[in-house]
Amino acid sequence: MAEIKVPVVRNILQANERLAAENRSRFDEAGIFVVNLMSSPGAGKTSLLEKTIEALAGRMGIAVIEGDLQSSYDAERIQKKGVQAVQINTEGGCHLDGNMIQIALEALDLAGIDLLIIENVGNLVCPAEFNLGEHEKITILSVAEGDDKPIKYPLMFQICSALLVNKIDLLPYTNCDMEKIRKTVRQLNPAGKVFEISCRTGEGFEPWLSWIANKVAEHRKNRAQACASPRMDKH
Ligand code: MG
Ligand code: ZN
Repeated sequence: MAEIKVPVVRNILQANERLAAENRSRFDEAGIFVVNLMSSPGAGKTSLLEKTIEALAGRMGIAVIEGDLQSSYDAERIQKKGVQAVQINTEGGCHLDGNMIQIALEALDLAGIDLLIIENVGNLVCPAEFNLGEHEKITILSVAEGDDKPIKYPLMFQICSALLVNKIDLLPYTNCDMEKIRKTVRQLNPAGKVFEISCRTGEGFEPWLSWIANKVAEHRKNRAQACASPRMDKH
């Protein structure tokens, strides 16, 4: 039966790719840099967003799409930081897809937004396979989850352009071997950036904040150049 199952999965992913491409055009037309933030449950995605918004909201327009199985708890946390947040409830679905993002975009005012962060459903498996139209994928791993996760879930660590290793303040209380994480991730994803941070203490935040702020600025600059080019009749 395997020969039946494989084409079905491929069709789902192909349909999703079309929707993701539509989303990407929409983001580019609006000049918005979009990040797909992924991790297992409890690694610190929403805490990272709270701290990142606190630091950057005065310098750029930020909006958030929150993906969760149930509840609007995370979107409420983000709204308290004074930025637009939309909650997607997947009702048991274990990842976000391009169609869900299209629906969520209807509830957002994209004017004045420079950075849109999509917090995916907590899951190290299939979010890695479903593009949403984002410009960059970012993965968080907390040291409490163990240093074997990149070996066990390699795709999630291969496809991200940045890995944030969170909760480094807990390192003395775990058996987590940071050097093992660094080494595995270097092998899986040599071009990927690695940031070692603590959302609780703020340790290691500056390099991460500069990286993401630079990405947004680069995106803005590229768009300005594209708009100024006489060869471009549509942007
Ligand atoms: Mg969350
Ligand atoms: Zn899934």
